[in-house]
Amino acid sequence: MQTYDCSCGNKLFFNNTHCSACSRTVGWCDACAAVTSISPSGECDAPGCSQTLQPCANRAAYQVCNCLVPADGDQPLCLSCQTTTDVPDPNDPTQLTQWRVLEAGKRRLLYELAQVGVSREQLTADPPLSFRFLADTPGKHIITGHADGVITINLEEADPVVRAKGRQQFGEPHRTVIGHFRHEVGHFLWMRLVENDRPDACIKLFGDHRDPPYGEAMDRYYAEGPPADWQARFISQYASSHPWEDFAETMGFYLDMRAVLDTLEHQVTPLSVRRGADLDELLAGYLKAGIALNEINRTMGLTDLVPEVVSPPVVEKLRFVHGLFPSEAVLLATG
Ligand SMILES: [Zn+2]
Ligand SMILES: [Zn+2]
Ligand SMILES: [Zn+2]
Ligand SMILES: [Zn+2]
Repeated sequence: MQTYDCSCGNKLFFNNTHCSACSRTVGWCDACAAVTSISPSGECDAPGCSQTLQPCANRAAYQVCNCLVPADGDQPLCLSCQTTTDVPDPNDPTQLTQWRVLEAGKRRLLYELAQVGVSREQLTADPPLSFRFLADTPGKHIITGHADGVITINLEEADPVVRAKGRQQFGEPHRTVIGHFRHEVGHFLWMRLVENDRPDACIKLFGDHRDPPYGEAMDRYYAEGPPADWQARFISQYASSHPWEDFAETMGFYLDMRAVLDTLEHQVTPLSVRRGADLDELLAGYLKAGIALNEINRTMGLTDLVPEVVSPPVVEKLRFVHGLFPSEAVLLATG
């Protein structure tokens, strides 16, 4: 992730709501797609953006968002908050905290999708990408997942203790809020970019999602676990459960890679990969940086940043995923 500049010259970070140096109100301006400060009368301080802004309604009422929206617009919610169709109970302090964590993860996801070249039209075509953040109720457990454009996240995934248990239980070294979003949006992107346009090429690499049927495959996975040689063919244990999960896990890894490389480009230039690099260069750069980043994490007693082993079949799956997005050269040309 890049950092941004306050009009006072101080650095601003993606989730900031105020500048720590000059106390100006800051936030994400949808009009100029940047974190900016606003003047006392509400004008966006970013060069070339003269929008008069006000806080997103969810920011004003619940502090679950840091976005700024046009003051004269008829939409009180920012582009990100508009995509959440089911919100938690804001009167429950635990749910409010969890909602805040999930909205921050979603804003980061939407930023990353724009970075890799997913257009607004691709997100809003029928059925549009939308989110439900739901809590378990007596007798009803909410299952995190995707169906027909709707990503449902169980609120408890915003709880670090629950995620730590899941890491052990499911053998997932990375069980994070942003990781959930990157996986689930993989299902959405399969529906939007693969299902009708290139199903055969996908089946060749990931297997036939119709045989065995999803429910049958998942029952078998939970009964028997992954095959002994899963690492030779899949990016994760869970990817071996069914071709849809393989695609979503591979997409999750790809988005991890692109996000880390984006951060390196802005923050640690010597470890970055040139713009317009192909999949092999991106992957080699990521794995090379991963050696250093893993050692940094081990230095601090944290889990490895890049724990995955990428086998040759997984490289070909990643090449397919990479081909779904416009090349960086195209992105640069169109701004
Ligand atoms: Zn400032
Ligand atoms: Zn602006
Ligand atoms: Zn908002
Ligand atoms: Zn999934």
